[in-house]
Amino acid sequence: MASCHAQADIRSRIAEAERVANTDSQRGLSLLDALARDVAQGPLAERQAVRESTCWLLGQSAPAQALELVRKAEGEATAMLRLCGGYALEQLDRREEALAEYEAGVLAGRRAGNDSVLARALALRGEQRYVRGLYAGAIEDLKAAHALQARLDEPGQRRYVLNALANLYADRNVGDYDAALASYRDLLVEHEKSGNRQNIATAHFNIASTYEKKGNLGAARPHFEQALAIDRARGAAADIATDQRAYAVLLSKLGEDAQALRLLDQALALAAGDETLVSAIRLSRGAAFRRARMPVQALAEFSAVRRFYEAPRNERFLQKLFEEESLARAAMGDWKGAYAAQGRMMAAQEVLNQQMLDERTTRLRVQFQSEQARARNTELQYQNSVQRLELDKGRDVRRWQLAALAASAGVILLLAAFAMHQRRLGSRMRDLALTDELTRLPNRRHLMALGLRVFSDAAPLSVAALDIDHFKRINDRFGHAIGDLVLQRVAHALQAALREGDVAGRTGGEEFVALLHGAGELDAMRAAERLRSAVERMDCSGLPAGLAPSISIGVAQRTPGESLDALLQRADQALYAAKEAGRNRVSMAA
Ligand code: GH3
Ligand code: MG
Ligand code: MG
Repeated sequence: MASCHAQADIRSRIAEAERVANTDSQRGLSLLDALARDVAQGPLAERQAVRESTCWLLGQSAPAQALELVRKAEGEATAMLRLCGGYALEQLDRREEALAEYEAGVLAGRRAGNDSVLARALALRGEQRYVRGLYAGAIEDLKAAHALQARLDEPGQRRYVLNALANLYADRNVGDYDAALASYRDLLVEHEKSGNRQNIATAHFNIASTYEKKGNLGAARPHFEQALAIDRARGAAADIATDQRAYAVLLSKLGEDAQALRLLDQALALAAGDETLVSAIRLSRGAAFRRARMPVQALAEFSAVRRFYEAPRNERFLQKLFEEESLARAAMGDWKGAYAAQGRMMAAQEVLNQQMLDERTTRLRVQFQSEQARARNTELQYQNSVQRLELDKGRDVRRWQLAALAASAGVILLLAAFAMHQRRLGSRMRDLALTDELTRLPNRRHLMALGLRVFSDAAPLSVAALDIDHFKRINDRFGHAIGDLVLQRVAHALQAALREGDVAGRTGGEEFVALLHGAGELDAMRAAERLRSAVERMDCSGLPAGLAPSISIGVAQRTPGESLDALLQRADQALYAAKEAGRNRVSMAA
């Protein structure tokens, strides 16, 4: 058995290797190699510790080698080592597999009460969520990781998590620029202490970009200058070109066209061979030409990079490109071309909106609602946990509970801030998110959210499930366009026949649901009958002769403790009965 002293010795040699690796990863790796040889016959824990450290180092620079290391460890692999394997997978663009490893790491860390593993797994999963546009989940993970990190003695990790959190705050979709600036400044101080020049330059760059997003161009300037000066001294070509591009955009916005264009020329020369970077620089150069009132040169840049962003399509960059192209053409008096470019820009915007909706808005809205419910519980949980702490002093669980409480309180605040931000987004976005395009009624998602909100009230509630009768025949006989028109007319008739305070939404093709607030059985039947007869009597002007649309309705009144899903299911069964009984009628659920 190795003595505790021997183990401590290994730990400090690992820490030394990691410190060296911070500035010279090759030398750090060879120190670890030497250590691995020294402990090859030693105790398991020492071999595992050296292996983990080596894996994290390789993860960035040589992910395939890191994976190999994990594979070879076999039965000796720790939860931390598997997590590192996940990280290597991520570097190899095997994102789904990486995410699965992170999920496993979160579980393993929780189960074993291993805060170090848990914090690292949460941080990695948080970043993956962020990349996927799942901001609420990302914030949740990173805040939890940050809270755990405060208790661990892992300064490198703590900085890593803080940086990831700051990047998230600074993202335009979250837009908490002041929180981002505060975090970046903390990081800058720490990096200056440790003397890692690349990290110092990155912190300056991030502070500058955040000021720029905030609209404070003057404050951004000195930080771009600093980042550039440091990267020049380091002689890192790609970093210099990246700094120059960003700084040039700022200068161009400030009207310093000549200097902006000169910097972009230098950046292009340095970036040669890196097509992604070159394209970004040329796009920025086009924009700078445009601002400098040189639209012909601007258009040349745009047409040169367009192909790069079209295969595969990068909508974000294309949107920017077409926007710039449209402005450049307008500056030349080419109104027709400007208009066409604007159309392309809007098409790209549309795709982006749709992606946003799919990936983020839906989830956020749903998560926000469940967070609100959780917020109500938090108060109670807090009181409980305080009482328990009084009884239970010295137990380790306490740490966990407080960390979890602090994290969830933070998440709620952030979600509230984000919800406000969401509210400020254009009404078009909101419409898209909540409204069915064809009928302008609330869509299914929105209706369910409304339903859940109404559900927390004690008042009676009934729902009506509506379905147009023989709609397929309408489509078959008169065509899909007429079918659409009928859908719109029916929606309009339903809307007009609803009582104040009730709401109907389109939940599927030719299916609707009405929430009848405060309605008991009799009221609900009356309301449904009114809806049915409204469709029967609706305005059919402009529709083909022989078209007489009708609807069938199933009504269900909520019973105590019943879920929204169960209630809707009963309404659907009643709807089915109404169809069976001959259609164009209302049926009450059993
Ligand atoms: P019933 O409900 O009375 O039993 O008969 P049905 O003909 O309505 O039967 P079903 O619900 O299966 O058919 C619905 C049809 O609605 C099928 C689909 O082609 C059509 N549909 C769904 N969405 C739309 C739409 O947005 N526009 C048009 N025109 N038709 C749609
Ligand atoms: Mg149907
Ligand atoms: Mg139908």
